[in-house]
Amino acid sequence: MTDARDQAVDEDVESFRIRARAWIEANLPDRDHPGDDDRALQALLFDSGFAGIAFPREYGGAGLTLAHQKVFYDEVRAAHRWAPCGMPWQVSIGMMAPTILDHGSEELKRRHLPRMLRGEETWMQLLSEPRGGSDLAGATTRLTRDGDTYVLNGAKMWSSGAHTCDFGLCLARTDWDAPKHRGLSMIAVPLHDTPGLVLEVIRAVDGNPGHFCQEFFDDVVVPVENLVGEENSGWAVAQSLLFHERNATGGAGYGYGLQNARPTNRQAQRSADGVIATAKQRGVGGDPVLRQLMAESYIEYTASRFANDRIAAGMRTGQFKGPWGSLLKLHLGALSSRHAKIGLAVGGADGVIWEGDAKVGGVAGEAWLSARGIAIAGGTNEIQRNIVSERLLGLPREPSPDRDLPFSEVVRNQHR
Ligand SMILES: Cc1cc2nc3c(=O)[nH]c(=O)nc-3n(C[C@H](O)[C@H](O)[C@H](O)COP(=O)(O)OP(=O)(O)OC[C@H]3O[C@@H](n4cnc5c(N)ncnc54)[C@H](O)[C@@H]3O)c2cc1C
Repeated sequence: MTDARDQAVDEDVESFRIRARAWIEANLPDRDHPGDDDRALQALLFDSGFAGIAFPREYGGAGLTLAHQKVFYDEVRAAHRWAPCGMPWQVSIGMMAPTILDHGSEELKRRHLPRMLRGEETWMQLLSEPRGGSDLAGATTRLTRDGDTYVLNGAKMWSSGAHTCDFGLCLARTDWDAPKHRGLSMIAVPLHDTPGLVLEVIRAVDGNPGHFCQEFFDDVVVPVENLVGEENSGWAVAQSLLFHERNATGGAGYGYGLQNARPTNRQAQRSADGVIATAKQRGVGGDPVLRQLMAESYIEYTASRFANDRIAAGMRTGQFKGPWGSLLKLHLGALSSRHAKIGLAVGGADGVIWEGDAKVGGVAGEAWLSARGIAIAGGTNEIQRNIVSERLLGLPREPSPDRDLPFSEVVRNQHR
């Protein structure tokens, strides 16, 4: 272990804050001019003991707590500095690494976690399929054991960042005669130069060509040691992954701070402050209807921030147990669409006009187009409502007639 990590042993949160603040000021670039080498910056964080702050030391982390991690990113933001966040870091370090930590074999953890935390490897998730993403347990991508390897066949879709990441955690069916939740396995698939894997980039509705991919697996061979968890225990691994995803998206857990804090026009437009700035710029800040809308947006964002802090603190201390990240994610999903509409109203005609990358006026329109995605990614608003009602409020479960049938019969019934 490096000296930097040794300093963290038993360090209380306030001493850590002082040490982190000094390091951030001395080492991290200005937020408005972050440079273009996030991997190098992530390696610097790692070598200085500030990557994977809440991960165990034996896997390259600092061995501290989520409270320390929160403090670090709060200080980055307060100092107006830049640390790698957003894609692919939020996914790789905020969701995939904790899933490996929860379920990976000792070998997988020792081999991959330090590389993930240092930014040498980035990971993403291969869950949704062309037939549908909400019914994740109905996955039909096929994983078949063949001696020391597995063979993967099928297709995945809407995979964020697959074209830039090194590994994808893929949910696939290993037992077709078991009920749907009990015949799934999770396996780490290398995404570069993999024979039998065809990866296509999808152009999103907001014009962004670099976000999603779809993948076709045709007899892709994957080593057995890439299995995460036991064969046929993939549903538990997927649940864990989704738990970390909803926390990260909502602004809690291992994903805290690893969200897009870069204040580009596009991000700024997505905050209440960005919309207020646009109103001032356009000279419409006195319009009584727009003022009401902006106040609504500001209030919702403020409530969201406080709710995030409270729930994240409750989860860290163990006071809030269960899928509270779903509540945060639901609020974000509902808020982003509403806020995007308010942005359009304030942006007026300028808000929907842009050409190529010159989106000076069109950020509101672009934000509106992509806001729907926030209500879908990581489980739609409807799915989060189901989770909140069943698992936080204790309401009756949604009927699931195929839950205990062998999956092969479920597929046959669908075909009839
Ligand atoms: C920005 C973004 C990033 C994404 N990144 C990834 C990624 O990295 N990896 C990945 O695997 N996937 C990713 N996805 C896919 C995402 O997880 C799926 O789109 C999502 O789970 C919904 O699946 P679907 O689009 O197939 O819709 P469907 O599951 O077909 O749902 C269609 C509609 O039916 C509703 N519905 C479905 N079931 C129920 C129910 N039981 N109760 C009530 N309503 C229901 C849904 O809410 C939705 O409105 C991403 C999506 C987006 C938008």
